[in-house]
Amino acid sequence: MATNRHEGYADGDPDGIAAEVARALDDAGLGVTPTAVSPDGDPVVQVIVRVPETTRERWKKAAAAKGVSMAEFVRDATDERAGDLLDCRHQSVRKYPWATICNGCGTRL
Ligand SMILES: [Zn+2]
Repeated sequence: MATNRHEGYADGDPDGIAAEVARALDDAGLGVTPTAVSPDGDPVVQVIVRVPETTRERWKKAAAAKGVSMAEFVRDATDERAGDLLDCRHQSVRKYPWATICNGCGTRL
């Protein structure tokens, strides 16, 4: 029995398709690294997004203007937008002599 060279898909690849594709690409000598780990130990996964070519060119120009790769530009912009939606920035607060309370999430600041 062959050993599994592409472990790390256990949770995100229930059918084993991603691991099988990675194995086939590896066997074809394409040198694909199926998994990576971020500096904080969080597994890194790939997200493929289809956009019109004009959008891709626009993102590419914006990334170049910022001096970063398009991948980094998309990652940063998307994460910032996710933060806007998911993380309260405590922009509206009620101030009392004894506490400041966020109107958005109710946190005592
Ligand atoms: Zn808040």
